[in-house]
Amino acid sequence: MKRPFKIRHEFVEFIPKARDAGVIYVSIPYATAVHDCFCGCGTKVVTPISPVGWQLTFDGESVSLSPSVGNWSFVCRSHYFIRKDTVVWADDMSEDAIAWGRMRDKAAREGHFDGRVKPLAPPKAEVTKSKSRGFWSWLTGGR
Ligand SMILES: [Zn+2]
Repeated sequence: MKRPFKIRHEFVEFIPKARDAGVIYVSIPYATAVHDCFCGCGTKVVTPISPVGWQLTFDGESVSLSPSVGNWSFVCRSHYFIRKDTVVWADDMSEDAIAWGRMRDKAAREGHFDGRVKPLAPPKAEVTKSKSRGFWSWLTGGR
């Protein structure tokens, strides 16, 4: 297991093209954080900040990102937490985490199409369900 190490955070409006290794760039206006994979492979990692994406915590001195960053779609397949400007390596990922991460990566890619994260589509199941229940009540004459 690799040792945890300190990184830096930088608040920016636009994510710079030339990024320093060991820095997480946070754009509040675009609700996105970007860093180059902290395993050292240099792959750009985009973590959209949203209720269904990552949550960023700034305690006045350091930033934390939740949940963990799982780069299972990269060759390195690294997985780590960012806690108070520190990279903490995670254990090997479960299949669940991999599946969840792929879903999230997909959402991130699609959301990133125009450089800004779009909200994910709201769940539609509830609407359909209540509608069919209404229809059933109408059929049976019940309320
Ligand atoms: Zn990597």
